[in-house]
Amino acid sequence: MQMVDLKGQYLKIKDEIDAAMAEVVDSCYFVGAPIIREFEKNLAEYLGVKHVIACANGTDALQVALMALNLQPGDEVIVPSFTYVATAEVIGLMGLKPVMVDSNLDDFNVTADLIRPYLTEKTKAMVPVHLFGQCCDMDGIMKLAREHNIYVIEDNAQAIGSAYTFPNGDIQSGGTIGHIGTTSFFPSKNLGCYGDGGAIFTNDDALNEKIRMIANHGQSKKYYHEVIGCNSRLDSLQAAVLNVKLNYLDQYAESRAAAANYYSVQLADVKELITPSINAFSTHVFHQYTLRILDGRRDALQQHLRKREIPTGIYYPVPLYKQNAYKEYVEDGFTLPVVEQLSQEVISLPMHTELTEEIQDTIIAAIKEFFQ
Ligand SMILES: *Cc1c(COP(=O)(O)O)cnc(C)c1O
Repeated sequence: MQMVDLKGQYLKIKDEIDAAMAEVVDSCYFVGAPIIREFEKNLAEYLGVKHVIACANGTDALQVALMALNLQPGDEVIVPSFTYVATAEVIGLMGLKPVMVDSNLDDFNVTADLIRPYLTEKTKAMVPVHLFGQCCDMDGIMKLAREHNIYVIEDNAQAIGSAYTFPNGDIQSGGTIGHIGTTSFFPSKNLGCYGDGGAIFTNDDALNEKIRMIANHGQSKKYYHEVIGCNSRLDSLQAAVLNVKLNYLDQYAESRAAAANYYSVQLADVKELITPSINAFSTHVFHQYTLRILDGRRDALQQHLRKREIPTGIYYPVPLYKQNAYKEYVEDGFTLPVVEQLSQEVISLPMHTELTEEIQDTIIAAIKEFFQ
């Protein structure tokens, strides 16, 4: 058993993928080929966003997005503590100060109310993360951003294909609501390529131009450099894979949601755990299916499952502010109560597009056996 079954997924679309990759190899046009723009257009259309800029990975996407905002060293950027390290890493890397905030117990996400106490004169941006596949409450976050004139970069690495519904009924794709959105095409992500890849989204024409320039050595045209940039590009083979897989993304989301629903229904009567909650304002594309295990028994459950060769993941076991690399950004003894609790309670079960009820029954039975 595995957390993610990439092989099973590949075999179902093998002919299409192999043909698309063979075409790229045959062309020998590996970098900067028209197929990249083609994929950017396809993804922009799918998401309903004006511009998609493909890049090398999801971490670069965040970095390039920050580079486009002209922030100054020491400026503060709000970030959840309960996220993958990349979200905070790029902030520190750029000489900015990551200001880590607490998360919600229900959906593991940050909210405007959790962010507000941390705003200062120096706050210039925030990077909400749509964790595990469901959008943050973006209406509140965008209102707060407008009030304080702050940029919003949505880290949508885990929630591509999700949809957020505003109180007035408007619906927008996760990652297309803030000034900039970013994603990752790491193989295990919901839209994964066969290597590394990422993308940046924006509806702002000026930001689009700037982001494209920065990701391409700060070039306005070849050998003319306007700003210090970097080299971050998606290659043709990855674009070919992504063009095929994008056509299946909705189907993949349905498979994940069905599997999540099956887990939740079957585990509903286990009172020692809490199944994921789904907010009315967002769809959930279940990048992870994450339980909270009560009474300090999470690690024992993981051991129990490991003995039965059932893999699980702990995302994330150590709050960022307790990591050696990030301690310098907080006072001694700094703590965020919900993040502390989540780091002790969460466990993610196998979640992918190839799960069967048979596989899930094995996992569910082993969990029930532990709590008997
Ligand atoms: C995966 C991920 C990233 C980084 O993506 P890479 O492509 O691995 O660089 C950033 N943020 C979040 C929330 C992620 O899950």
